[in-house]
Amino acid sequence: MSADDLERFALDFTADQIQIRDTMLRFAKDRLAPGAAARDKSHAFPNDLISELAALGGMAMKARAEGEEPLADTTAYVLAVEAISRMDASVGVVMVASNLAAAIIDAHATDDQRQRYLAPAIHGELGALSFALTEPGAGSDAGGITTQAVRDRDGWVLNGTKQWITGAAGAQLFLVFARTPELGDGAVTAFLVEKDTPGFSLGRVEDKLGLCSSGTAVLQFDDARVSDAQVLGAPGKGYAAALSGIGASRLAIAAQSIGIAERALELGMAYAADRKAFGVPLSTFQNTRFTIADCRTELDQAWLLMLRGARLLDRDGAIRSEASMAKLAASEMCGRVVDKMLQVHGGNGYSRDYEIERLYRDARVMRIFEGTSEIQREVIARALLGRAETG
Ligand SMILES: Cc1cc2nc3c(=O)[nH]c(=O)nc-3n(C[C@H](O)[C@H](O)[C@H](O)COP(=O)(O)OP(=O)(O)OC[C@H]3O[C@@H](n4cnc5c(N)ncnc54)[C@H](O)[C@@H]3O)c2cc1C
Repeated sequence: MSADDLERFALDFTADQIQIRDTMLRFAKDRLAPGAAARDKSHAFPNDLISELAALGGMAMKARAEGEEPLADTTAYVLAVEAISRMDASVGVVMVASNLAAAIIDAHATDDQRQRYLAPAIHGELGALSFALTEPGAGSDAGGITTQAVRDRDGWVLNGTKQWITGAAGAQLFLVFARTPELGDGAVTAFLVEKDTPGFSLGRVEDKLGLCSSGTAVLQFDDARVSDAQVLGAPGKGYAAALSGIGASRLAIAAQSIGIAERALELGMAYAADRKAFGVPLSTFQNTRFTIADCRTELDQAWLLMLRGARLLDRDGAIRSEASMAKLAASEMCGRVVDKMLQVHGGNGYSRDYEIERLYRDARVMRIFEGTSEIQREVIARALLGRAETG
């Protein structure tokens, strides 16, 4: 595995972008690949590996520490996520959630917050950060959250439940969004909540179909008290802060989808070359050859949409529907490619002894989180047609 395979896109990549990708590919191959199947079975959250990846800068790649340049631009970031997700998409998604939280903190933190939270995250001392928006009653409709923060003397008291929070099993710091009704109807405020805050606890770790070692958990707030110094950005403007990181994060899920599909294609091609039926390798059958050709073509389409989105974000600082197009195309492609490569494996593809089985399960959620495929279509349609008038 090397950066040479990027050549086929006929785009210029900087030396920094290629070096970051090579470092991440090496880490994925040497450190993540060997234990990925065992972690998938045990559901163990890989604290040590997350710390190692954090020490490489992987948990806050685009954030800026005092007097330093960010490690990565968006292009390098998505190349890194793709590389990591090839070998362990559970670690990949923890990386994506942490980078989302770090990017929002970077954009809104006070000097004190930068020193206390962001610098340690950038330098790998905090492990992964968690981003906590979703609740049992509010996912796509994030405006429907009910976790509340109420003012009390020199701080705020939080009550409510968050669900589906990636990396929560190992995180030290949580970026939490709560309704603050005294600041206006629908006002939401972002809070930086430390793990050991009294009144804050981890609930159930989800027993999931895939991404089994990503430590996804419920968060419980029972009169959890935080200080004014832990409010991130302007009080009441938390929803806008949450949305500010969404473009890069949707591109990162496109990158995860591409990483999983790249690995599936690699495995399928190797299997087709090796396995014989009717006395010849599967790769001699036209249906296998055409399937592989279709998968490579679909993968490259997704790559180009993702790279376009990353470049737009790097150039203009803002993208809208292009991130949704990349996420929609790549996650739907991932589902098709992994399914086809499992088919190439025949019965063996249905066995836990084969990596393609894990990829098949890991792939499914790509169409669900960071905005479902339906929500991405809605974003794209709205950009083209304006908001639908219903009712
Ligand atoms: C493994 C995993 C990890 C996650 N990690 C995080 C995390 O770290 N932090 C976090 O905050 N959240 C996280 N999430 C939550 C995730 O973002 C939500 O699950 C997702 O946004 C969908 O919300 P929902 O599950 O409530 O589904 P719902 O919103 O209830 O949607 C159900 C179905 O209805 C459709 N639907 C809903 N609204 C519309 C509409 N307006 N038009 C058309 N169709 C619609 C959806 O597309 C979907 O098919 C994670 C989820 C999973 C599964």
